Amino acid sequence: MIQADLHIHTVYSSDSLIQPKSLVDMLVAHSFIKVAAVTDHDSVRGCRATVELAAAYTDILIISGVEVSTTGGDMLVLGTEELPPKPWTPESVVDYGKSIGAVTIVAHPFREYGMGDLARKYSVDAIEVLNGNSSTSANNEAKALAKSMGLPGTAGSDAHQVSELFRVNAKIEANLNVESVLKAIKKGSLSTQVSKG
Ligand SMILES: [Zn+2]
Repeated sequence: MIQADLHIHTVYSSDSLIQPKSLVDMLVAHSFIKVAAVTDHDSVRGCRATVELAAAYTDILIISGVEVSTTGGDMLVLGTEELPPKPWTPESVVDYGKSIGAVTIVAHPFREYGMGDLARKYSVDAIEVLNGNSSTSANNEAKALAKSMGLPGTAGSDAHQVSELFRVNAKIEANLNVESVLKAIKKGSLSTQVSKG
């Protein structure tokens, strides 16, 4: 069992203040959240930098990912070290995810840049049902969408500054390696919660 924050922006997103080193230091210091997905806007440069820094520690794990601004709304891809090929339509990003064994997730569907109910059209792996920047009602709508689509729900802080890191998390029945975490998310072996302590 691991606990993860599956949606984080580093300074490689133009709107985030989080340095890769700060993220790694916070992860090392945290008592129970030891896994973090780096999901910058349309960039994977922050992943490389963070993974390199995290390599010095055996008890933390960085999942490389990206938050793609698709033509239909924001989509997270977890388990990629490259950007999907353009054009960034929801269909093509989903296909890219499947082709490399990554996990595709509809980010905050009921907020600005979210897909809303149009997410139903795409064969994504999961829906982000607990986003640290979304209202309770928007998260509840996302939960209902995931349930009605029969898809797993994920959680991520969507942090853009250090104080926002880890405020929500996903408890995942997985080991501390990327393959195990991605497999568990696809299987739905996870639950989401607001972080306490
Ligand atoms: Zn985001």
